[in-house]
Amino acid sequence: MAFAVTSSSSAAISGSSFSRSSSSADLKVPQIGSFRLADRYATVNLSQKRCAVKPVNAEPKRNDSLLPQAASISAPEVSEKVEVEDFEQLAKELDNASPLEIMDKALEKFGNDIAIAFSGAEDVALIEYAKLTGRPFRVFSLDTGRLNPETYRFFDEVEKHYGIRIEYMFPDAVEVQALVRSKGLFSFYEDGHQECCRVRKVRPLRRALKGLRAWITGQRKDQSPGTRSEVPVVQVDPVFEGLEGGVGSLVKWNPVANVDGTDIWNFLRAMNVPVNSLHSQGFVSIGCEPCTRPVLPGQHEREGRWWWEDAKAKECGLHKGNLKQDSSAQLNGNGNGNGNGAAAHTDIFDSQSLVTLSRAGIENLARLESRKEPWIVVLYAPWCPYCQAMEESYVALAEKLAGSGVKVAKFRADGEQKEYAQKELQLGSFPTILFFPKHSAKPIKYGSEKRDVDSLMAFVNALR
Ligand code: SF4
Repeated sequence: MAFAVTSSSSAAISGSSFSRSSSSADLKVPQIGSFRLADRYATVNLSQKRCAVKPVNAEPKRNDSLLPQAASISAPEVSEKVEVEDFEQLAKELDNASPLEIMDKALEKFGNDIAIAFSGAEDVALIEYAKLTGRPFRVFSLDTGRLNPETYRFFDEVEKHYGIRIEYMFPDAVEVQALVRSKGLFSFYEDGHQECCRVRKVRPLRRALKGLRAWITGQRKDQSPGTRSEVPVVQVDPVFEGLEGGVGSLVKWNPVANVDGTDIWNFLRAMNVPVNSLHSQGFVSIGCEPCTRPVLPGQHEREGRWWWEDAKAKECGLHKGNLKQDSSAQLNGNGNGNGNGAAAHTDIFDSQSLVTLSRAGIENLARLESRKEPWIVVLYAPWCPYCQAMEESYVALAEKLAGSGVKVAKFRADGEQKEYAQKELQLGSFPTILFFPKHSAKPIKYGSEKRDVDSLMAFVNALR
């Protein structure tokens, strides 16, 4: 495995211009100093104070990452002085900063102990931003073994374009073998993507991150309204551990959190950055070949991922920290919502335009062969952040439909109602929205993640 490690050494920062290697043969050895800093950074002292993450339950220091020991190759001398940084405060300060400023800050703070996680999609913008800072940077990628051929070719193109070697992480062969031998190559279509993602993505990522103190992702708030709407530009990683070990030992930077997809594409075009050829075939979000498909105009990009599953389950584990505790439990199948979490939340969807259905009420509704009027019903749990997020639009929908002949209702389906809702009402995760047509007993499930008024109204109008 070859690795591209850009240098943090003082030698590397003494150059005066950014240089690209043109030959891949030149890249077989880690390119210490393959990026040279522009003049404006020539005086930057990378041996400045380290930024320590507030350790929570810190464990003894260890370094069992399979990533190349970049630190041992080229780590700059660092001061022993440790400065504890408040990353929540920093996130606030940087919330209006440009991606370039955020990237610069991240690379400045963490030097050789930070790397960009590159998926082979439009997050190539991160590499471009890193290049523009003039600082050395590292890039790693998870090769799941199931990527599209176009993505592999794109990796190669990116390496050549930027003169880097991507630090690929591979799944454990024994684990993949056990999974595939016992369940076949496409088990994720039957029992969900979590297990395969755990073997092919999450564990390799975990190993990669154990060799770092910070990482940089291309997460954006607009990518998944259900799970990414609160992504900060920088945070203490809520899930993974870094080099120092222990929860809180890793910092996660999301420089494009506040940028929308259109602006990313404008940037890529303006900078003439190479892009994955799958994009021109209708792919927006790109992952593994069996789990990614193109989306239609107007469809949300995440609808092209794991489309056979409920919308809320669409985090592969790499960014599980985006899921709130209750919903994580729900996803793992062990949350029934009738514990402390349920008790602590007041009810939602409170409107006179909405009918509150009891268990008997929804059983009756489901039983009817023909109804006086169609119904739209949300199966919800008040503690669920995705239900909370759609409260405003659902109440607005109810007000718009008042007197129209379509009834709008809610049914609280957590706790002891959950089993019934799963069995009889197609409940997968919260919220589940059902349309009960006038002349059919079978309810129709709303399949999109878009839960704004217009999308819900389009659903109703198509079926009423
Ligand atoms: Fe497996 Fe699909 Fe996850 Fe790739 S995206 S690791 S193929 S489940």
